[in-house]
Amino acid sequence: MTGSEELIRQARSTAEGGLPKSPRRNAAVIACIDARVRPELILGGEPGDYHVIRNGGGLVTDDALRSLMVSQHHGTNQIIVMMHTDCAAMAYPATVEKARIEAETGERITFDVHDFTDLETELRRGVELLRTTPLLPNRDRVRGTIFDVDTQRLTTVID
Ligand SMILES: [Zn+2]
Repeated sequence: MTGSEELIRQARSTAEGGLPKSPRRNAAVIACIDARVRPELILGGEPGDYHVIRNGGGLVTDDALRSLMVSQHHGTNQIIVMMHTDCAAMAYPATVEKARIEAETGERITFDVHDFTDLETELRRGVELLRTTPLLPNRDRVRGTIFDVDTQRLTTVID
């Protein structure tokens, strides 16, 4: 049995029906896909408190923006960007891999693969983008944080 088959087999009801569609704390979190980073455990709160948008790196990508547009339409007005130390996405040579995959498959990758080499620089880019994009009605409460996977501490870098 594969890992994903095991996970589906052990799936259980969360017994948390009746939660509001609009998050109670009016917040959305952008975080990395890294299995060591678990925003619901790091931030606490209750199910239904905030939206979590995840991608490789916890980056402010076009799709993260699309998700935030949906999130804000459903009542969120604050954003936490949560990047983390030892991020595999930072070590991933995205542009090199893009070229290799395109050459091998003949397919053209049309989305931004988004290389980044410095955590804090990338965090500042993402927060600045969120604070200035005309696509979001609520952009004055955007915070940038870094979670340290070794110490398990969350630090606010941009408040
Ligand atoms: Zn990561």
